Amino acid sequence: MAIIGFIGLGNMGGPMACNLVKGGHQVTAFDLSATALDTVAEAGAKKAGSAQEAAQGADVVISMLPAGQHVEALYLGDDGLLSTLNAGTLVIDSSTIAPETSRKVGAEAEQRGLSFLDAPVSGGVGGAKAGALTFICGGTDATFDRARPVLEAMGKNIFHAGESGAGQVAKVCNNMLLAILMSGTSEALALGVKNGLDPKVLSDIMRQSSGGNWALNVYNPWPGVMENVPASNNYQGGFLVDLMTKDLGLAFDNAVANKAPIPMGSLARNLFQLHSQQGNGRLDFSSIQNFYRGKDSD
Ligand code: NAD
Repeated sequence: MAIIGFIGLGNMGGPMACNLVKGGHQVTAFDLSATALDTVAEAGAKKAGSAQEAAQGADVVISMLPAGQHVEALYLGDDGLLSTLNAGTLVIDSSTIAPETSRKVGAEAEQRGLSFLDAPVSGGVGGAKAGALTFICGGTDATFDRARPVLEAMGKNIFHAGESGAGQVAKVCNNMLLAILMSGTSEALALGVKNGLDPKVLSDIMRQSSGGNWALNVYNPWPGVMENVPASNNYQGGFLVDLMTKDLGLAFDNAVANKAPIPMGSLARNLFQLHSQQGNGRLDFSSIQNFYRGKDSD
């Protein structure tokens, strides 16, 4: 069992750290939020007063932070974590960030004799709680093999996408598709309801037809159609509109850099950006349904 320092205990990181404890690992955790820290301490993790303290003496350091700037600030620079870790430490970053930022941190880690894996996840808060996440990894074969037993305590599907940064590229592609299919699903449901259809009946029909998709199967955006999803809880919990907007920005920047046309991804990006600007940034991303429903559509 590994000695693990875990940094970033939010909607995803909190349950991931708890599952590592359940898997028998010794976890020392840190978050800027005292409440988040208390929750994982109740599950058996040790509390640290700083990221440095959480990582001290660890075999493995895992981070789950909002965005690239948080990851760079944590690891890089003279007082960054990479300068204080013991040689040979395995560093796993599961945040969704730009591939080039990930490669930059990975290169500096390797230079300092550390092993680095980008390992963003898919599966949402439900997957994090259930220990059923999909990990999408980038790094060397040796680093991936070393990380696998640790990742298995938090996930069910562990993929090796390729070299450093490849995990982030695959994750960005996946989330761009997710934004497009959630928008399309919301659009179709709103059109059906405008025509007097019951959203549950329409969802059942589309699930079994050629429009069937992940949103209809496990994350229906229309309130009340499905239990235990953010749509049936005032769009609380889950994956924030602001985080989806960030990921669509990553897809857009990557597409520009690689001269790849992403007309659907660009539309989805504008849609989520607008939705966020209208005050919905802290709601779950399936709240894009409200954009299509309009105020008088209840
Ligand atoms: P979150 O905002 O709930 O949690 C982030 C946590 O990081 C917060 O508790 C915050 O206090 C902490 N934090 C920020 N800066 C810190 C620092 N310097 N030191 C220590 N703690 C710090 O976000 P989340 O939903 O848990 O998402 C985390 C990452 O996972 C993001 O990159 C997101 O895009 C990705 N992701 C989220 C989901 C989801 O469904 N929520 C799914 C897949 C991937």
